[in-house]
Amino acid sequence: MIINRASKLFQPIVALQKNQILINNESISKSTQLMLNNGIIKQSSPGIFHFLPVGLRVLDKLIKLIDTELRYVDAQKVMFPTLTHAKLWKASGRYQDVASELFKLKDRHDTEYLLSPTHEETSADLIASLGLVSFRKYPLKLYQITSKFRDEMKPRFGLMRARQFIMKDLYSFDIDVERSKKTYAQMCDCYDKIFAKLAIDWVKVLGSSGTMGGDLSHEYHLPSAIGEDKLVQCGDCNYSANLEYIHNIIKTEANITSCPNCSSSNIKITNGIEVGHTFLLGEKYSKALNSKYLAEDGKPKLLHMGSYGLGVSRIIAAAVEILSEETAIKWPTLLAPYRTVIIGPKIGSKEEAKLAVTPENVYQHLNVVNTLMDDVLYDDRSDMTIGKRLLEAKRTGYPFAIVLGSKATQNPPQFEVINLYNQDQHFLSLDQLVDFFSSSSNFDVCKLSSSAKV
Ligand code: ATP
Ligand code: MG
Repeated sequence: MIINRASKLFQPIVALQKNQILINNESISKSTQLMLNNGIIKQSSPGIFHFLPVGLRVLDKLIKLIDTELRYVDAQKVMFPTLTHAKLWKASGRYQDVASELFKLKDRHDTEYLLSPTHEETSADLIASLGLVSFRKYPLKLYQITSKFRDEMKPRFGLMRARQFIMKDLYSFDIDVERSKKTYAQMCDCYDKIFAKLAIDWVKVLGSSGTMGGDLSHEYHLPSAIGEDKLVQCGDCNYSANLEYIHNIIKTEANITSCPNCSSSNIKITNGIEVGHTFLLGEKYSKALNSKYLAEDGKPKLLHMGSYGLGVSRIIAAAVEILSEETAIKWPTLLAPYRTVIIGPKIGSKEEAKLAVTPENVYQHLNVVNTLMDDVLYDDRSDMTIGKRLLEAKRTGYPFAIVLGSKATQNPPQFEVINLYNQDQHFLSLDQLVDFFSSSSNFDVCKLSSSAKV
């Protein structure tokens, strides 16, 4: 059996100065500081980060969660090339429109490419290259979860606004506008489910389409004081919109004192971190790239596209920002790098000499529990006190610790289970441990909330 051992983990803990505000000229937030301090991520260049093993476990869990939900809407996972031929972006007009954010490069023949910031053009071009495919083959939803590149003017807050970041981008192809609207509603439901699983408050608001284009767009936000967007929510008619969107429709940047939909003054303005964006694109990209299908009447027609982004690495940073304490990370429980850590007595202690069951035995016992499969860490650094290892577990954000203390030397032995998110403690036998970790309700340490209606 492979045992995940803390002594083997590459988790460089660094002592950043308290309340540090800059790394390499980049502003940092509480979440960045926590993730840098605790060996979750490391900065490589401004806005460019390494995911270290603990951080990558969190990212992998979020990717798996998203993959699972996307299977319910018949989305198929692909991987588009990172390099996009500049001619595709010239065709859509975006080569000019977002020029300053593009990372551009040339090959040895002087042909221009981009490090792709998003893939509307690439996916539309793929479909166009198939020639005329029957209407029966649609709808089609293709997505990927990959690195995206944007030369942000002000990279800041670590993974929150990076220059290389992980995005889930999905592109839908429908044969007419009604069907693409159905797909849009289905994708919004899917996003609601993903955020519900993360058990973190979110708000869905009307958003601007900006240089992306299209007819309808919503943004998903996690409310937080450090969010760069302002969200307007009406307490009477449930209208919610990004302030930028409202400014665009009323064509002024004046203060908003009432709901643009029902005129009620019962409105709330909060800051939000944009973690998802959905766009009903219509024919903008299919026209530019010539993405057509063969209609029932035998004629070629343009496909209707949708684009659905999720800021995967930004979700991680935003969740840590919102849930954590000043000195200890709290993850959405489903994303915690390990669900539980086992801590045995210090080497040479009297408990160590009298243990009835070793930490490895406990590990083996728990490894059969479905909800814990490969999700237990054995902190085998027995030269450290239990207290020191508990503190590190709490700082890294493991939701539970199982401690083999003095009661583990009794017959039958009792193990202390500590919920490191709320400090609940239980003494359990080996069998009760298995029951405890088999019950998924014991993982619901964060509250579940519902989205605002739009
Ligand atoms: P923003 O307004 O924050 O710059 P955007 O509207 O330009 O974001 P989209 O093109 O909608 O971003 O990209 C889809 C999602 O990717 C966003 O909702 C966001 O969660 C994420 N994202 C965008 N830019 C970044 C970035 N620089 N770093 C991390 N995540 C990002
Ligand atoms: Mg956006």
